[in-house]
Amino acid sequence: MSENLVEFQHLSKQFTVEADFFGKPVSVLKAVDDVSFCIRRGEAFGLVGESGCGKTTLGKMLVNLFEPSAGKIFFEGTDLTALKEKERRKYCKDIQLIFQDPYASLNPKMTIGDIIAEPIRINRLLPESQVENRVLELLHCVGLAQHQRNRYPREFSGGQRQRVGIARALAANPKLIVCDEPVSALDVSIQAQVLNLLDDLKREYHLTYLFIAHGLNVVKHISNRVGVMYLGKMMEIAPEKELYSNPLHPYTQALLSAIPVIDPAKKTKRIILQGDVPSPIDPPSGCRFCTRCRKAVDVCRRKAPELKEVSPGHYAACHLYKDSAPFR
Ligand code: SF4
Repeated sequence: MSENLVEFQHLSKQFTVEADFFGKPVSVLKAVDDVSFCIRRGEAFGLVGESGCGKTTLGKMLVNLFEPSAGKIFFEGTDLTALKEKERRKYCKDIQLIFQDPYASLNPKMTIGDIIAEPIRINRLLPESQVENRVLELLHCVGLAQHQRNRYPREFSGGQRQRVGIARALAANPKLIVCDEPVSALDVSIQAQVLNLLDDLKREYHLTYLFIAHGLNVVKHISNRVGVMYLGKMMEIAPEKELYSNPLHPYTQALLSAIPVIDPAKKTKRIILQGDVPSPIDPPSGCRFCTRCRKAVDVCRRKAPELKEVSPGHYAACHLYKDSAPFR
């Protein structure tokens, strides 16, 4: 069995912003631009970047909410992008999504028990006589009381609703869960509880996660490896400990320097990024980060750097690191 559960190969997604009279695009937004990486079986891959970097678009292509403009997505060796819609839908059960907003992602007219039962019924995973027991089991797994089964989403707090969302994702017995900023809408005090729950469930159910987050502090403890995206491109990939202790890319270094540190001995100088993220409709030529990079040199404005392996398992897309093999 291959070590990689998912492989993205040169994946791109463009959205037409403006079209001419004949429908031909005259202005396009490059949300994801030629991104290649893999997610290993059983790992939590943290995907981080500022708003508009393409991380959520990439997750939505994986769960079949967006169709890629170019490139391939392999799942257990099968190219999902080559499948017809009916065949593609067979994989929806295996790849579930936990939404960012627990308020908007649950149908307010359904009880939480029925919400959790829905994927079991749609995918005909169990005989009807066993569905109720499975729902109660899932409620228990995510730390909700079984007597709450007949309550409606409005009767729950944000953290509890996210637990319902997690139970619904688990109900389909997925192999992979795309967690799209699952704690960003929650109070800080609740975030750690939900992250711990996801971590426990990963071990118990041998799950694989694509964990999408805005900041590096959120993915630190849950991720085995972390990828950093900027303006539709992958900038750096490394094992969690390596990335946090030895960030190579100037963008990752800036993101890490913004994380508050309690221990004064470990404090580093904050790197302030100048200006806003450029528009993905008209990204800078050369390196996407060159307009905000304090280390930029001439070549950065002319040539886009490739994602290369700088040390074993540690990849960076930056001209500062030359003698290394391109990412495969
Ligand atoms: Fe900065 Fe140049 Fe590296 Fe881009 S390639 S991150 S602009 S040094």
